[in-house]
Amino acid sequence: MALIEAKQLSFCYKTGESSVPVLRGIDLRVEEGDFLAIQGASGSGKSTLLYILGCLLRPDSGTLKLDGREITSLDRTEMARVRNKTIGFVFQQFHLLPRANILENILLPAHYPAEEAVILPEHRERAIGLARQLGVDGQLRHLPNQLSGGQQQRVAIARALMNDSRIILADEPTGNLDSKNAAMILDLLKDLNHQGRTIVLITHDPEVARQCSRIYHMRDGLFTEVEELRPRRTAEPVQNFATRNFASEGSSGAGGPHKHFRPLAAYLKLGIASLPLAWENVRRNRARSLLTMLGITIGVAAVLAMITLGQFTKNRILESYETLGVNKLAIRGWPNWNLKASDKVGTFFRFFNWERDLLPMSATFSDEIRLMSPVLDSWNATANYAGKTISKELQIFGVSPDYLHITNRQLIAGRNMNPFHVENKAGVCIIGFDIAQRLLTGVAPVGQILYVQDGNSNYACTVIGVMKSQTTNSTWQKPNLQILVPYTFFQAIASDWWTAQIDQAVLQLHSRSDVEKTSKMVKAYFIQKYGKSGRFSVDSDGVLVAQMKKFLNLFAVMLASIAVISLLVGGIGITNMMLVSVSERFKELGLRKAVGATDFSIRVQLLVESVLLCGIAGLAGIILGFSTYEALIFGASKLVSKLQFEWVVEPGAVILSVISILVVGISSGLAPAIKAEKLEVIEALRSE
Ligand code: ADP
Ligand code: MG
Repeated sequence: MALIEAKQLSFCYKTGESSVPVLRGIDLRVEEGDFLAIQGASGSGKSTLLYILGCLLRPDSGTLKLDGREITSLDRTEMARVRNKTIGFVFQQFHLLPRANILENILLPAHYPAEEAVILPEHRERAIGLARQLGVDGQLRHLPNQLSGGQQQRVAIARALMNDSRIILADEPTGNLDSKNAAMILDLLKDLNHQGRTIVLITHDPEVARQCSRIYHMRDGLFTEVEELRPRRTAEPVQNFATRNFASEGSSGAGGPHKHFRPLAAYLKLGIASLPLAWENVRRNRARSLLTMLGITIGVAAVLAMITLGQFTKNRILESYETLGVNKLAIRGWPNWNLKASDKVGTFFRFFNWERDLLPMSATFSDEIRLMSPVLDSWNATANYAGKTISKELQIFGVSPDYLHITNRQLIAGRNMNPFHVENKAGVCIIGFDIAQRLLTGVAPVGQILYVQDGNSNYACTVIGVMKSQTTNSTWQKPNLQILVPYTFFQAIASDWWTAQIDQAVLQLHSRSDVEKTSKMVKAYFIQKYGKSGRFSVDSDGVLVAQMKKFLNLFAVMLASIAVISLLVGGIGITNMMLVSVSERFKELGLRKAVGATDFSIRVQLLVESVLLCGIAGLAGIILGFSTYEALIFGASKLVSKLQFEWVVEPGAVILSVISILVVGISSGLAPAIKAEKLEVIEALRSE
């Protein structure tokens, strides 16, 4: 079986309208161990033929078999594998990576195919061994442009040998060299042939061609003559060839079952392996990368700071209102005196009843309502203690134990009333601060008995608590002259029937509840129950606050969108930079493909590069955003007396920042990755 078997290969380059036929039906058979030369005038199609044999170019028609395996029908990934494993290509222009050192250049094919992307110590050993064999081991750390042409070509040959290819294809390897170096390269190729490698060499130099075993003469895309000079070497392939024998490759591997759907794990594995290279590329264009990354840094900082600050100010504003009782509702109900005969009513409303109205209502809205207390009030009461009097200034409230919590009042002495007080109509009271000051001077207030006159009712009550002093803007409310008693006690001692009825209750909602919505539902509940026989009002400062909450939310969303837009602009910057960088690196990318990089690995490499850029920039952005908003909070805490400095971490904002870094990283790398992936090897290599 022939190692290379080409039949009726034809090819033409399509450039716009015109297409010039370059190969016009080439038949070629190369046996294992052959050393053949293709000779012909410039433009006769020699390079094109070699590219096709090297799987760098697909013929328009004809068939090509390598070691019995049909090549022309393989997909791009499988072609890349064949290039990587079977063929070592030596270009006339050397095509070394200009910014990678000699060792890295020799190692290049070991990075591919994608599945084996990790460079192991034995790869390094082999590369160093090859460098020694080819006499460039003294320059391993040098860059290609520090080497002579002859040395560069030897590096290129070492690279071609890196993956133990059985076939070496050399396109005028001596064309750019002086005669001394040319002779050395030719000797080298002869040596390789002696070791058992099959070599196809292009030359226009008859002297060089003479050294081969066979010469094909080419003109205008056809072989015109074959010269048989000496029999081919029949040496066995060198031992280490066997490890990478491509006949054993089969059709498995990268081109196998998951060619269109790559699992995330494959991306991650290759992505991690591509990190050093991506880092290298970012580092190489340091100034440009930094400027582009600045956009992302500012964008991420803005996202984090804006969302956190938006949330922070919203919470602070709402908190300060909540202490005023934002989640508090007051319900009032009156009978409708103007009820018409035509208004059909089931139950007539006169007053609220604790068991019949308020408890069922609270149960119905148990998800919203946290605390509830009826409020019965009486104004202008008088109290006496030990000969001292506060006359006609006191406000007596009949309430339940929840009232203190609902109104956010604190006790400085004693304790709150309890359900047993309510149940037993106990004569206990909680008094305002000024009452304790003015009446109970010099005694411990708790346990003292006050005598109260309210209208025509007189009663005594035992002080069980004293409320902390509270200021108010209201002219009619006197929080420090209030007396709270169990509402059942209030009803029992009320001076008239009307005063003893519950026409009012206050509610406290859960902090998550919507005050506006709940107030409507509560009102609807009583209207549904009593129809037109009652008039109900449910109101709260909370409704105003709820509207403010909506505004603040809108404000926060607006801030966040501005931030997201700046992030988007940063992402476009990255895309733009990477598209330019792909164009600049056509040659490098082409070369990587030539030595076996699959489309997939090129794609991952660019995505990783962009995610790395965004990741570094984003991390800086998170730090910047964090310090910015903490600095702002610190500044504000110096200006606003009530605001305390604190460390704020808004997990939602951090998560959103990290997600946006990944999304921007991947999406801004997408266009460049696709552009790079679609590159044709030869076109990319030709570009400058
Ligand atoms: P050789 O290596 O024998 O000098 P080539 O195979 O490089 O010849 O080129 C054969 C012909 O194809 C030449 O006429 C050349 O101008 C043309 N050609 C080569 N590459 C391209 C290309 N990328 N686009 C268009 N024409 C090309
Ligand atoms: Mg050529």
